[in-house]
Amino acid sequence: MKARLTLILLLFSTAVFAQNHNHTFNRKIIFPNVPGYLTLKCDLHIHTVFSDGAVWPDIRVMEAEKDGLDVISLTEHLEYQPHKADIPHPNRNRSYELAQKLVANKPLMLVHGAEITRSMPPGHNNAIFIKDANKLLKDDALEVFREARKQGAFTFWNHPNWLSQRADGVTRLEKLHEQLIDEKLLNGIEVVNGKMYSDEAIAIALEHNLTMIGTSDVHGLIDYEYDIPHGDHRPITMVFAKDRTEDALKEALFAGRTAVWYKNTLIGKEENIAALVMASLKAVPRAYPKDRQVVTVSLQNVSDAAMILKNTSEFNFHGDSDVVTVPAQGKLDIQVKTLKQLDAFDLSFEVMNTVIAPQKHLHIMLSVKPGE
Ligand code: ZN
Repeated sequence: MKARLTLILLLFSTAVFAQNHNHTFNRKIIFPNVPGYLTLKCDLHIHTVFSDGAVWPDIRVMEAEKDGLDVISLTEHLEYQPHKADIPHPNRNRSYELAQKLVANKPLMLVHGAEITRSMPPGHNNAIFIKDANKLLKDDALEVFREARKQGAFTFWNHPNWLSQRADGVTRLEKLHEQLIDEKLLNGIEVVNGKMYSDEAIAIALEHNLTMIGTSDVHGLIDYEYDIPHGDHRPITMVFAKDRTEDALKEALFAGRTAVWYKNTLIGKEENIAALVMASLKAVPRAYPKDRQVVTVSLQNVSDAAMILKNTSEFNFHGDSDVVTVPAQGKLDIQVKTLKQLDAFDLSFEVMNTVIAPQKHLHIMLSVKPGE
């Protein structure tokens, strides 16, 4: 009898262990679509040995597939080629060509890109949706952007707060940037790059209507940079596109429909962050227990961002303080003290893990209908 019990316990603990194991290793990034658009998860700034990266392009494709990304762009430095002596490649399109063969017949979309690598100004800038990277090898920076435009490129300013080019870490526009923006030669700005974040870049994006971008700018391995099994993730840009095509992606980037996901924080223009958060969260009430005025509401989250909510409603909670966290792909039950039994009421929150302007978080309202 005792042996049987031990066996049952052993089987039980193995089952529990297997469950945890599966949960930990579901690493694909998941966010919901928003009304009218598909949410395409993109990393648009990546390097390989064809500039100063440490890996061959096939590793980048495999990493992106592991992370469940929809789009990547291999943006090799045009001018900075430290592996040139060992890997001679006069053709600056080579990395793209190799990766293109690897993604053929796969859902992963590969966008042709390059990094225009200059001292400040204009610093480093990416051009994506280009046709021929070789034609971007020009001395005059302005001419490079004009060629990129001629090829139909979308361009963005990389790590504008990089300490090697901005010793105080503050993103600032110089005359050349203003000219590029005026002539619509510069279309976006990285508000996040690797482990860098810039409030000033967010302010500039809002003021000059530049598209907000967040990228890994990975040179080594994603798994060495980010502790993914423990909930860490690479920075990505979510692009809200009409369909899963390069044209739709480009239209959405020019229209500024993006949300950056960085260290669990969602960054972007208010309408984009609002659409994503509202598509991610739902408030499902139970019925009031008889003769009680406290109702349980299940806050449900279908995104990979844990939502940190500060209660700004007229009611407070029986079991929690004013700040609650709804886990990624999970739910949290809160008990709302509505003082009398209500058929419907609103819960309002400040979503603390969002940035819609420097030091400004999104406010949301969820309607709750215990009467239904
Ligand atoms: Zn780069």
